[in-house]
Amino acid sequence: MTAVSIKLKFSLFLAVLLLLTVVVLSVFVLKGIKDHQQVRIEKELLQQTRLANLSIKQAYLTSPPIDDQPFLRSRGQQFSMDLAVYSGLHVVLYDNSGKKVGDSAPLSSSYEVDNALSFALKGKIAYQREGNSLLYLTPLQGPGKQMGVLQFQYPLVNDIRFYDTIAGLFLITGAAVLAASFILGYLYFSRATSAIVTLNHAAERIRKGQFLMAPPLKRKDELGQLSQSIFYMSTEIRKSMEAMKDEDRKLRQAVVKLQQLERQQKQFIGNISHEFKTPLTSIKAYSDLMELYPEEDALRNDAVHHIKLETDRLTDMVEKALRLTALEKYDFEFQPEQIRIRDILLDLISRMRAKAERFDVVIDHRLEEISIWADRESFVHILVNLLDNAIKYNVPGGRIHISNRMEGYLAIIEIENTGVGIPEEARDKIFEPFFTVNRDRSRQRGGTGLGLALVKQLMEKHNGTIELLDSAIGTAFRLIFPVSPTSPNKEELP
Ligand code: ADP
Repeated sequence: MTAVSIKLKFSLFLAVLLLLTVVVLSVFVLKGIKDHQQVRIEKELLQQTRLANLSIKQAYLTSPPIDDQPFLRSRGQQFSMDLAVYSGLHVVLYDNSGKKVGDSAPLSSSYEVDNALSFALKGKIAYQREGNSLLYLTPLQGPGKQMGVLQFQYPLVNDIRFYDTIAGLFLITGAAVLAASFILGYLYFSRATSAIVTLNHAAERIRKGQFLMAPPLKRKDELGQLSQSIFYMSTEIRKSMEAMKDEDRKLRQAVVKLQQLERQQKQFIGNISHEFKTPLTSIKAYSDLMELYPEEDALRNDAVHHIKLETDRLTDMVEKALRLTALEKYDFEFQPEQIRIRDILLDLISRMRAKAERFDVVIDHRLEEISIWADRESFVHILVNLLDNAIKYNVPGGRIHISNRMEGYLAIIEIENTGVGIPEEARDKIFEPFFTVNRDRSRQRGGTGLGLALVKQLMEKHNGTIELLDSAIGTAFRLIFPVSPTSPNKEELP
């Protein structure tokens, strides 16, 4: 079914409504006119009747005594002529037997009035409509009783013309109202429906995901409110869709991260089993040797030395591996406190000096009084690992330089060492668990490949970073700790 436009429906409705008003109005007005005309005619005819009665009665009483019927028959024509002159109407007189006794216009056409006449002869008033005339028949009263019947012929032409003019006017008005209300209604409703069409387009755009930047219409009526509501609805849908997309993106990121973690974990477990096997095999081989040659002192001493070395390495590895997995898996037990970098570093340097001397390495420093919020144990771990590496991977006669400074709200610690350095291709990998540049060399020096991975994790837990700097003479690491603007700086320290 084809849809009929709402503007057509509304304009038709308006036109019909106004037409109905005009019709009802015209019916009442025309009826009013008709009633009024009737009353006026009746009144006039009654007046004429009264005058006629009076003059005939007077003439009868003043004339020589004679019976009323012969009197009427003899004077009837005269009376009708006189009455016609006074009233301006065509007058006909009848005696009591219904015989015409006078006619003011005998040549004009006469009508069949038997019924009305017999009615009037019984003393009642009778009306008869003939063309554009009204025949009014009324009893003629003599001094004592009815004398005959008086007939007035009243012309209705003017009244009918007036009535027809008014009716014609109503007809024209009705047609004009119908046409005008339809056209005006159509134009007005076209405006209103164009607003509806605009709103419809806006809803369609929202359906396609093109959200509104402003209300589609600016009006102060219900359509304006609807437009505002559509705009709010669009904004809400956009927000929830954005939130949904955001959630979806986060979920995908979480899945990717989980998969990555799972991969890393698998790799970690694979590495760990491999790395554990090597020292255990070595320990087993040396203990077998000791069992085979219990008397060989030199061999036994060498075996004990190696067993101790491998056990230390194994212990270190277990400790670091556990710490690393704990950091990755569980919530880090972070107990931050205000720590003085300089004091801790000086303490560590003095504790590691013996090892440095063994490797023929000198440690020097340039340290400022700087305080940061950090977990003391983790901070010590970070620095011990870096210092240990700086000693282990140095060269005899080498040097380590430790310094710190503040840069804005960043506390910076740099550990530089002379030595073998880190080859370009390994720079990206040194923070991966179990990565070593030179496995044998690392093993020889008790390395596990877990130190820097642990340092990186611990730095991240402190919201800090570790960078491997470009160094021409060896290796340099930079640690950056963010310092809260509210925490005390070096000037405030005692
Ligand atoms: P490891 O226990 O083997 O020292 P790390 O994770 O601490 O493991 O270091 C990873 C690798 O990075 C080491 O095997 C070593 O090759 C290299 N490396 C670390 N620090 C230094 C340094 N200061 N100088 C040269 N190489 C280094």
